[in-house]
Amino acid sequence: MAEIIAILNQKGGCGKTTTAVNLAAALALNDKRVLVVDMDPQGNATTGFGIQKNEVDSTIYSVLTGNSSVEDATVSTDISGLDVVPSNIALSGAEIELSKEVGYHTILELAMESVAENYDYIFIDVPPSLGILTINCLVAANSVIIPIQAEFYALEGMADLLEAIGLVERRLKSPSPIKGILLTLYDSRTRLGRDVYSNVKEYFGQSEYVFKTTIPRNVTLAEAPSHGKPCIIYDEESSGSQAYVDLAKEIIKIDGTVDSK
Ligand code: ADP
Ligand code: MG
Repeated sequence: MAEIIAILNQKGGCGKTTTAVNLAAALALNDKRVLVVDMDPQGNATTGFGIQKNEVDSTIYSVLTGNSSVEDATVSTDISGLDVVPSNIALSGAEIELSKEVGYHTILELAMESVAENYDYIFIDVPPSLGILTINCLVAANSVIIPIQAEFYALEGMADLLEAIGLVERRLKSPSPIKGILLTLYDSRTRLGRDVYSNVKEYFGQSEYVFKTTIPRNVTLAEAPSHGKPCIIYDEESSGSQAYVDLAKEIIKIDGTVDSK
């Protein structure tokens, strides 16, 4: 059964999509079966795998509106064991449409049930808001990874994010424990970078796990999407690629499965 992990932070530009794409690819290269579900109408995770988001027949929008099955919407990638459910701008209409459905917050969860046994990990790339799509992501997820950009305002909005996770747990009886906090766009050479890292650790204290792996600011990570490839395929040697390889290993180790070399 797949662990379903939502990559979540309502702030844009903190590395959610980059993490979904590259962590998924790194785990697939470690022989894991991985599905990436693009829940952002911007479709950046879709594009990041070289999928033409406006040319696909079915997307996560058609799944959520009951017009296709997850299997029908799933696209395989060049990486063995790695599939994607694509998204495009059509999904932006879903917030209003879904709100009229009975039990709208469980639609993604129910859709995922049919494919969960086919994968080891399902990553949901969550849109930058705390609306209905994000609630669907939280209800579907077993756990969340929160990428935090190492900048001065890193923790701004974190209380709202934790509150949203708590509300879904209490009101919808759907807990999504934090699997880890991931520091992204991190520069260990600067004082600011180091300060933010220690602030993040202090903020979460012992209560939450902060990944030992940090993701450096690395231009290759930003370039790879324009080539339609995860960075670890585009340039395996780059520091950004290596960081996601390390993160995949850290997660495999946490999960107690084999291969933590
Ligand atoms: P989000 O999905 O949270 O909005 P993205 O993953 O799309 O964030 O990242 C925002 C922008 O920053 C993108 O252009 C991406 O390529 C770039 N980026 C993300 N992580 C890094 C990094 N570690 N180093 C350099 N650029 C990055
Ligand atoms: Mg994104």
